[in-house]
Amino acid sequence: MFRHALRTVARSNASSWRQVAVRSYATVPKTAFDWRDPLASKNLLTEEELAIAETAERYCQERMLPRVLQAYRDEHYDPKILQEMGEIGLLGANIDGYGCAGVSTVAGGMTTRAVERVDSGYRSGMSVQSSLVMGGIHEFGTEEQKERFLPEMAKGRLLGAFGLTEPNHGSDPGSMESVAKPHATKKGYYSLSGTKTWITNSPIADVLLVWAKLQETGQIRGFLVERKDCPPGTLSTPAIKDKNGLRASITGMIQMDECPVPEANMFPDVEGLKGPFSCLNSARYGISMGVMGALEDCIDRARTYALERKQFKGNPLAKYQLIQKKLADAATDAAYGTLASIQVGRLKDEGKATPEMISMVKRQNCDAALRNSRILQEIFGGNAVSDEYHIGRHVANLYVTQTYEGQSDIHSLILGRAITGVQAFC
Ligand SMILES: Cc1cc2nc3c(=O)[nH]c(=O)nc-3n(C[C@H](O)[C@H](O)[C@H](O)COP(=O)(O)OP(=O)(O)OC[C@H]3O[C@@H](n4cnc5c(N)ncnc54)[C@H](O)[C@@H]3O)c2cc1C
Repeated sequence: MFRHALRTVARSNASSWRQVAVRSYATVPKTAFDWRDPLASKNLLTEEELAIAETAERYCQERMLPRVLQAYRDEHYDPKILQEMGEIGLLGANIDGYGCAGVSTVAGGMTTRAVERVDSGYRSGMSVQSSLVMGGIHEFGTEEQKERFLPEMAKGRLLGAFGLTEPNHGSDPGSMESVAKPHATKKGYYSLSGTKTWITNSPIADVLLVWAKLQETGQIRGFLVERKDCPPGTLSTPAIKDKNGLRASITGMIQMDECPVPEANMFPDVEGLKGPFSCLNSARYGISMGVMGALEDCIDRARTYALERKQFKGNPLAKYQLIQKKLADAATDAAYGTLASIQVGRLKDEGKATPEMISMVKRQNCDAALRNSRILQEIFGGNAVSDEYHIGRHVANLYVTQTYEGQSDIHSLILGRAITGVQAFC
């Protein structure tokens, strides 16, 4: 029953969604401009995708939004959120089988957009679980690994983290220092040593997908490190506290000191950066759609504020041209970004998307969301400094989304290489 939770909820919502749609078409002329969806991106979605978006939006607005301010203030992440997401089928939603919903890439994007409309940190926790860890296991794991991990991860009962970045190697993970070698005393085990940093979910994760170089070959391999099986002193995952962005998510390190990991927990075939980059590709797609949700929330809040706040002769701020231009720029970028992501999602499902396309939408949408949210923040004047207006939180979060999973300039280099044929990384 769980296996199709998202689809089932979505289908039952589809009929109520259709009723809403019928009602709104009855009162609004078909050609009316909708500032919330300026280029009518909804027209490109299937009925199932619309219903999934509606299900996700409802959960996020009703259950997540009321908690986010306190969570952000306390820098507290409640892991139950992942269980709740699991209950409605949001985790690993693009995976077919293993208790996952098996929905389209675009439908998955609609769920990241709904979550990030509330907070980028909540979306980060979901993306790591779904795209980076479950996606990695699904793509590169053995059948036994898939059966062992995916169903519990889909329910949010087993939590994952993805360890690629190291203190000395962020944009250049190929130079990583973490190493795996045959264990000195335990037959059939590798021994992992090294440090990963800025790892979402690491302090609470049960299974950590760690990328390390196999000493024998020098090749990067993926290892599923299970916290419960690590002897004391071999694994620690301290939290990184006092962040000034993404405070509603939990971030930490992964410190491994001759940590024993069974050979059966290594991905069998994938070698080199193909493994982590392939997982990142799916997550980056989700980010491209997610940040559009954060930007749309900024637009919605700035518009409401501009209509209510009066300055000079009792005029609402919304009457002034400079304010209108800010809103027009932001709404245009959100509309273009959403359409571009839908197109790339469709191509991905047809097997026609390239990593460069995903670099393009990740870079463009993150940059646009950060740039516009910073400008929209100005509309709130001094009130922007109060967290109750939410915009400052989005701005701080969007700095991180522009930085992680390939900082924007790194994606420029990926695109520049594809355009010129010349490598500019080093
Ligand atoms: C809150 C948070 C959560 C994160 N979660 C995860 C996670 O779950 N798992 C994980 O593995 N990592 C995670 N990261 C790490 C993130 O992916 C890295 O921070 C990111 O890849 C950038 O690496 P860096 O911070 O080491 O920056 P650096 O690589 O030191 O780069 C610093 C700056 O230099 C620029 N730069 C670097 N090289 C070049 C070049 N050749 N040419 C031009 N400019 C260059 C970059 O674009 C950037 O602007 C997270 C980070 C944060 C902040």
